[in-house]
Amino acid sequence: MDLKTLEIWFVTGSQHLYGEAALRKVEENSRKVVEGLTASGRLPVRIVFKALVTTPQQILDVCREANGSPNCAGLVLWMHTFSPAKMWIAGLTALQKPFAHLHTQFNRDLPWSSIDMDFMNLNQAAHGDREFGFICTRMGKARKVIVGHWQDAEVQDRLASWERSAIGLHELRGLKVARIGDNMRQVAVTEGDKVEAQLRLGIEVNGYGVSELAHLIAEASDGEVDKLVAEYERIYTVAPSMQHGGEKRASLHYAARTELGLRHFLDRGGFKAFTDTFEDLHGLKQLPGLAVQRLMAEGYGFGAEGDWKTAALLRAMKVMAHGLPGGTSFMEDYTYHFDPASPVVLGAHMLEICTSLAAEKPSCEIHPLGIGGKGDPVRLVFTAPPGPAINAALIDMGDRFRILLNEVEVVAPPQPLPKLPVARAFWKAQPDLKTAAASWIYAGGPHHTVLSQAVTTEQIEDLAEMLGVECLKIDGKSSTSCVKNQLRWNEAYYGRK
Ligand code: MN
Repeated sequence: MDLKTLEIWFVTGSQHLYGEAALRKVEENSRKVVEGLTASGRLPVRIVFKALVTTPQQILDVCREANGSPNCAGLVLWMHTFSPAKMWIAGLTALQKPFAHLHTQFNRDLPWSSIDMDFMNLNQAAHGDREFGFICTRMGKARKVIVGHWQDAEVQDRLASWERSAIGLHELRGLKVARIGDNMRQVAVTEGDKVEAQLRLGIEVNGYGVSELAHLIAEASDGEVDKLVAEYERIYTVAPSMQHGGEKRASLHYAARTELGLRHFLDRGGFKAFTDTFEDLHGLKQLPGLAVQRLMAEGYGFGAEGDWKTAALLRAMKVMAHGLPGGTSFMEDYTYHFDPASPVVLGAHMLEICTSLAAEKPSCEIHPLGIGGKGDPVRLVFTAPPGPAINAALIDMGDRFRILLNEVEVVAPPQPLPKLPVARAFWKAQPDLKTAAASWIYAGGPHHTVLSQAVTTEQIEDLAEMLGVECLKIDGKSSTSCVKNQLRWNEAYYGRK
């Protein structure tokens, strides 16, 4: 994952009414704004001053150039002066990249003692940006409006947050998802329309036989396997039975071999997200656990049981979270603690929880797995640290996609769990478990989610807006009746017309 190649283009709108000297000043000020935003060190993606545009042709040209640039993840648009907005119609019609409308001005304060009409003409974003806002709304353009002085840390952070949504979108467009094996038989929510997903989200989802993976696993060299096992021993607490001379040592070697084969498979095909299913493991000795946990920690998206939607969402959120503290993982609402005094959800999966959520040194263990009919799988066991998080999901409603999210508070487990053989997270759902779970179920939310302690609600909402996908949140202010009404309204707004 490398954000260094990506750029956000800063484009300033103006016109020729004020003379060349004013335009020179507009460009000079725009460059200073970009320099200031860069110097703040708050933006995850480099922002570059791209153009001062004053004619419809210049606007169209820069929008077309943005469309064609593989490194441009989005634009920041600002009307330093007045930029009559009919000039923007052709450009905005052509533009296929997301944009933020930064409603700022060069000066923070009014120069009370010196302000004159020249100053007024030069610094009129207060109404120039309204003219621009009108045409965006008139055209139904999705965008983020960020208001405030460009040196204000809060404004810079909001721009930084929007940049993260923009790179999530950038990642989805062209993301290749490998579906190794098909769906868990008879499961509904992990199915979906892969053609619509490519049209709407930009992701390519294709199926591959598990035998291809089995072949690459078998091909991994013993030397590579030994090296990887040594790495496991260095960074994890390996169970005695898998240590040198232990009776399960061969299983650890096979887990390392699986990681090497899976990594080879993904890299060879250019896949940044993948799925598998315990119902199709022909040629494999164990359900991949450790390997999947480690690949997720490196940034690969994953969904179990053929769940390509969660795999793709996880990959996008991994990119959005890049460089931030806090983990992001495939997750499943597994079982509840219904104590009325303090109800919590125990989130886990059979094996595949990302080690980015591990606060302590993970314990590398081996235990039987009752389903799948394969050998005991190796896995990493740990508990996610406390703190705010979101659970996000992507649902195929048949006629459209819906993104659903729930704000949660990850908490320490109230008691030790000496016999639980999987990685886990405990959380209190907002506003409370009963409301959150009822709302989630009314919304058709899946059991698989992406749990993130790094990505925010606003970033997911912005990503959904960029995608033109419905987004429904369940947060501290939600009530079940309100969520039910939102579902009805969204049906009218987003339903196929
Ligand atoms: Mn599952």
